[in-house]
Amino acid sequence: MNYRHIYHAGNFADVLKHAVLARLVRYQQNKDKAFRVLDTHAGIGLYDLSSEEAQKTGEWQTGIGKLMQAELAAPVADLLEPYLSAVRELNPDGGVKLYPGSPKLTRLLLRPQDRLSAMELHPDDARALSRQFEGDFQVRVTELDGWLALGAHLPPKEKRGLILVDPPFEIAGEYERLVDGLAKAYRRFATGTYCLWYPIKKGAPIKGFHEQLQALEIPKMLCAELSVRSDREEGLSGSGLIIVNPPFTLKDELHTLLPVLKTIMAQDRYASQRAFWLRGEA
Ligand code: SAM
Repeated sequence: MNYRHIYHAGNFADVLKHAVLARLVRYQQNKDKAFRVLDTHAGIGLYDLSSEEAQKTGEWQTGIGKLMQAELAAPVADLLEPYLSAVRELNPDGGVKLYPGSPKLTRLLLRPQDRLSAMELHPDDARALSRQFEGDFQVRVTELDGWLALGAHLPPKEKRGLILVDPPFEIAGEYERLVDGLAKAYRRFATGTYCLWYPIKKGAPIKGFHEQLQALEIPKMLCAELSVRSDREEGLSGSGLIIVNPPFTLKDELHTLLPVLKTIMAQDRYASQRAFWLRGEA
């Protein structure tokens, strides 16, 4: 387990993931009834972008750094409001020094009745995450394999839930694990909303991954992808999200949001984006 998210926090992939996560949390809140967020690969929760590690890659500068400086038209600013208001709350003096990972972002958006269960397998990161939420009765942090949580922690007792699966993709077979993990989780909790993250890079088996997901015959599955550059060079060129049981408004929201995020974070003229039904309401 070598992956440390501090090197990548706030990059273009985090921007897409966290902007969508914030919308999904807000959508759950259209009903008063409590819900639970299950974050299976949670990281440390809060990232200092002035740290040596974050400065070394500087990835955040072409992600959240660019977005925070952009002039946003009203419809886009509205859609990003839950996400960017959380970032601003952590940086009251302006700019962006502290960046919220998925559990911290979620926590900043929860109402008193809502709950978060966060899993992290790396012992140091799990400890850092526990410290982050010490004494917070709305959050439970567990040092646990997130793939196991997809079985043991579902369905949530609230019977309403949002599940983020954001593995590091540092070992082979993670695309297949995502498919298997979703299949297992969906059998236990078919009414949950799921958000799965995956990388786009040279040679990535995206087509086969999509076909395996389609074969699960889960009725409503939306896909959102944003690439910031050509995949001819090595390294991460884009990222995607699979959203199962998405809010009915999400596809239109993505059609408003993705072209703007693409323009703001593009690194070359091959930047691209798309949002489409992998299964369902085509
Ligand atoms: N979700 C976080 C966010 O958006 O801020 C970022 C998570 S990072 C991409 C992936 C995390 O998963 C790392 O912190 C890594 O230590 C952790 N991890 C790796 N394998 C895991 C496993 N099997 N179960 C739980 N966590 C794991």
